[in-house]
Amino acid sequence: MQQPTREELLAWDRWHVWHGFTQMAEYEPLVFMEGQGCRLRDLDGRWYLDGVASLWCNVHGHRHPRLDAAVRAQLERVAHVTNLGASNVPAIQLARRLAQLAPPGLEHVFFSDSGSTAVEVALKMAFQYWRQRRQPKPGKNRFLALAEAYHGDTLGSVSVGGIELFHQIFRPLLFECFRAPAPDTYRTPPGVQPDELCAYYLQQVEQILQDHHHQIAAMIVEPLVQCAAGILTHPPGFLRGVRELTKKYDVLLIADEVAVGFGRTGQMFACQQEGVTPDFLCLGKGLTGGYLPMAATLTTTEIWNAFLGRYEENRTFFHGHTYGGNPLAAAVALANLELFEEERILESLPAKIARLQEHLERIGGLPHVGHVRQCGLIAGIELVEDRASKRPYPRSERRGWRVCLQARTEGVFVRPLGDVVVIFPPLAILLEELDFLCQVIERAIAAVCP
Ligand SMILES: *Cc1c(COP(=O)(O)O)cnc(C)c1O
Repeated sequence: MQQPTREELLAWDRWHVWHGFTQMAEYEPLVFMEGQGCRLRDLDGRWYLDGVASLWCNVHGHRHPRLDAAVRAQLERVAHVTNLGASNVPAIQLARRLAQLAPPGLEHVFFSDSGSTAVEVALKMAFQYWRQRRQPKPGKNRFLALAEAYHGDTLGSVSVGGIELFHQIFRPLLFECFRAPAPDTYRTPPGVQPDELCAYYLQQVEQILQDHHHQIAAMIVEPLVQCAAGILTHPPGFLRGVRELTKKYDVLLIADEVAVGFGRTGQMFACQQEGVTPDFLCLGKGLTGGYLPMAATLTTTEIWNAFLGRYEENRTFFHGHTYGGNPLAAAVALANLELFEEERILESLPAKIARLQEHLERIGGLPHVGHVRQCGLIAGIELVEDRASKRPYPRSERRGWRVCLQARTEGVFVRPLGDVVVIFPPLAILLEELDFLCQVIERAIAAVCP
């Protein structure tokens, strides 16, 4: 087959490929050809530092020899088999490894293929659990979620989502849920002091649980930081408080660690930062180190037991994805987890997190930076027109986007969330690379928001 020319590729990309979260009328192609370490090379041979970890999933860099080899080795055996009523060796090993690494008690692993489906699975299991457990509570058929929540783009995960811009238009298609305020530490409720924020937001959650727990199957949260909401970092203690409240009111807790799992916050899982074991742990993005689509929903034996019975009792979880537990993905996920140990990734993080913090303190001094937020190796820099009143820029000015375009000219690839510039590099990023990333972003902000 003849290779397409550069011009053909750009034209076909504009016309045939419908890109996610992208206004196609204005799309300017950026086509990557290859990657190495934390860098990516485009069609024209320009290299960029991958400051978004290829949308929050790359962990050890691109083309890591161990990960490449894991895929190749599995290819020598089999690329795919179903996991409906059958299994494969790497998926079994991966399930066991995840159960060992997760907070204690999460021993049963349901594989799917994206973060959205990992969430769908948790929602459906929670719902079905209350109908099938020994003392059923079928009235518990609704969910509690946070404002500004993002849990994926399928309709169930959009139903628990709370980002107006993305989710509002689909409301007629969605199920309704209870909603507590996002534990925002920047735009805080009037009259509440910083040290009272955690208690204030927990009180809001408790009010809803108190009034409606008979109807609530589960509460879903992104532990520690709501990423897609604009890197909204929660007050410390909020997650632990939510766990205590959900226990008190007999409501299940779904922790969506699709973004924050796998070392992002400084520990393997964000829940571990506050000693929390949820009833469901949703994993995705970093699970395969950013190599192949795979996700997992982990749960407890209490939940698992409610689904057991003879075939004709119909207690089965009637849900399954064609590529769930895909052996290639499972093999590379296993290698990803091995690399965490071999390369002592978690031990390497405190120095990087501290270095990122130094840069953020400096960037926070720029005249149009309203707030900088950090959780581990995740950071958000919020641009505002006026710092004193926290007044945002008009949306039409697209400051966040322009900062990212400016950074590209200096060889850094980042994506904003509105006017929040996001820093979310592979965990393997070197300190020098982190310096470069932050310095380029600082210059870009200074240029676009003088
Ligand atoms: C990205 C993300 C999802 C959705 O994952 P996909 O693989 O894109 O479907 C769900 N929850 C959170 C917190 C996410 O960041």
